Amino acid sequence: MDLYSGIKYLKGIGPKRAVALERLNIKNLEDLITFFPKSYQDRRKTTNIQDILFNNHYCVFGIIQSVHEQKVSRSLSIFTIEIKDDTGIIFGKIFRKVNPYSKIDLFGKFRKDFQINKNIYVYGIASIKFSQKQISIEDYEIVDSKEKTNQFNKLVPIYNLTAGITNKVILASVKYVVDSISEIYPDIISQYSKDIKNIKLLPISQAIKRMHFPKTTEEAELARKSFALQEFLLLQLVILLSNKKTKTEDKIHKYKINKTLLTPFKKQLKFEFTKAQKKVINEIFSDITSNKPMNRMLMGDVGSGKTVVALSAILLAVENNYQALIIAPTEILAEQHYLTFSNMLKGLNVNIELLTSSKLKTKKLREEILSNIENGKTNIIVGTHSVIEDRVKFKDLSLAVVDEQHRFGVMQKLSAVSKGKTVDTLMMTATPIPRGLAMTIYGEMEISIIDQLPPNRTQIETVCLNEHLAYLKAKEEVSNGGQVYIVFPLVDESDKLELKSAIQEAQNLSQTIFKQNKVGLLHGKMKPKEKNVIMQKFKNKEFDILIATTVIEVGIDVPNATTIIIQHADRYGLATLHQLRGRVGRGAKKSYCLLVADAKSKNAKDRLSVMTKTTNGFEIASEDLKMRGPGEFIGIRQHGFPEFKAGDIIKDIKIIELAKNIAHQIIKKDPTLTSKENYNIRLLLDKKYSALYKTVRVG
Ligand code: ADP
Ligand code: MG
Repeated sequence: MDLYSGIKYLKGIGPKRAVALERLNIKNLEDLITFFPKSYQDRRKTTNIQDILFNNHYCVFGIIQSVHEQKVSRSLSIFTIEIKDDTGIIFGKIFRKVNPYSKIDLFGKFRKDFQINKNIYVYGIASIKFSQKQISIEDYEIVDSKEKTNQFNKLVPIYNLTAGITNKVILASVKYVVDSISEIYPDIISQYSKDIKNIKLLPISQAIKRMHFPKTTEEAELARKSFALQEFLLLQLVILLSNKKTKTEDKIHKYKINKTLLTPFKKQLKFEFTKAQKKVINEIFSDITSNKPMNRMLMGDVGSGKTVVALSAILLAVENNYQALIIAPTEILAEQHYLTFSNMLKGLNVNIELLTSSKLKTKKLREEILSNIENGKTNIIVGTHSVIEDRVKFKDLSLAVVDEQHRFGVMQKLSAVSKGKTVDTLMMTATPIPRGLAMTIYGEMEISIIDQLPPNRTQIETVCLNEHLAYLKAKEEVSNGGQVYIVFPLVDESDKLELKSAIQEAQNLSQTIFKQNKVGLLHGKMKPKEKNVIMQKFKNKEFDILIATTVIEVGIDVPNATTIIIQHADRYGLATLHQLRGRVGRGAKKSYCLLVADAKSKNAKDRLSVMTKTTNGFEIASEDLKMRGPGEFIGIRQHGFPEFKAGDIIKDIKIIELAKNIAHQIIKKDPTLTSKENYNIRLLLDKKYSALYKTVRVG
């Protein structure tokens, strides 16, 4: 047997249980021994019967005095065991639903097990009925003597389960192999444990064993931390390897802040930067002018004004005769950045190019655009991630800005960064990420936060209400000179789902309730050109109402839009709802977010209630994280990002930091990880993190 032997060959498993175990992601022995308990049942102490109170879990040890079967009703039977110890008597109860048509003998096993005068341990919840002590039996063990027990006098691991798999099955399987298999599990942390002062560590084989069978809860936590360190260390190594180029080298680009573009840009701007914007611009400029490449994440709530911050950094690059790139997640947003930049830079001698996949389709245009980028005529490139594609060559790219980065996969980010030599990168997001999480994912990364909205913004009022009232409010807003978005989940009608769709509703509404208004339609199936025409028209107030799908979700900036109606709001996650809401409240007029929803699940209700309670993106993100857990939250699961078996990205910040330091030491000594002592690291990276590891090595 080795680490990767299939689970179905294990004693007591077989093909049927193997299929069930696969639902728990247990396919081989390695999966099994690292399938750690979700909690532990404390059975370390047995309680004297006389000391038992009710409504608590207890372990009792005693001698069986009598047994008794009773049919309480047609469908319920109870098996009762009278147990005695030196201090009193308690009645153990086992309840079973009875199928009157079944011939299966429900209590056969119990009749055999529970023989008078045998020693028994039981675990369960105690109660008092008719001044009799009772215990509802959840687990029991018949033993020869008090000392000779397998399942008592200890912490018992409790595992996640699935149909066809009981806790006992997992426990028995783990017990069977954990001693031998954990010994051959590659250990990469033990050699560092003597240098680590604050955290006591176990060797990996011990950690694995103690995770399943700890003597104390402290030992379980120690084991968890040890295994977590190994997990985080691997990931930090991957991150370091990927950043190696940008991190260890000094950058070739040298900057001076001569303000030949920055000053005229600021003069032209219709507003002053907020204090928060100034602060983060300073942070970014000091990174850019240092001799190490920048790797900074800019977090700022929806509408906090990240675009002009990015543009300032971009202009610094252009002033120094370098090229800058800004990548947006959608074509609409790229187009909008392009227009915003063109507007704000009017009269300045700067060439901006919009680069989207649709634009690259025509050969002639493509060649011209690409050659202008390659020969340096183009200073600023705005585009979707298609710009990351191989065929785009820059003359001298020095800065890459990734907007709304939470929508990109980790992979894409890594390859975007490796495009130019020692390029400064700035990632921008409205979805704040807890520090521990950011560090885990991005390793070496500084964080800037815009914690203030531009002045004269009034709060957005958010309410849940029915469609009719929402439409009346929309009419009122329009008659007061505002504009309205109405968001539908589908483009087109679908038989399967009873959801309203943008196309049908646009027709319907423009002929009924909004007959007197100008109604536009925008959806994801339109060609990029059509979409841009519609967006421009809405911006120019040629429409009062824009009926749209979630294509408007990120970044769209029309300050005169004061109301957004979100249909079927219960279907969206918090991040999406918050982004959608961020389309309004961008000007000085009071704005409204009207949620039309039929929330059935508790989760959907909770989401809507968070939305009505707060407009603060950081609070919303933290609620979101609590509800969904980190993997889902940041959208990394689908990008080959590992789930941690023992590590907890929220609470293990210290361990992550430690892993980071160790990873640095390792890479410093052996940059390619080829030395003999790093054999285990290579082994684990290849096996566990191969997707990430390989991408990184290629890039
Ligand atoms: P986000 O951070 O969501 O990307 P934007 O950069 O789109 O936000 O900015 C939202 C709106 O606020 C834009 O219309 C922008 O011009 C405006 N804005 C940005 N900074 C300021 C400021 N300091 N004062 C007033 N308006 C500002
Ligand atoms: Mg933005």
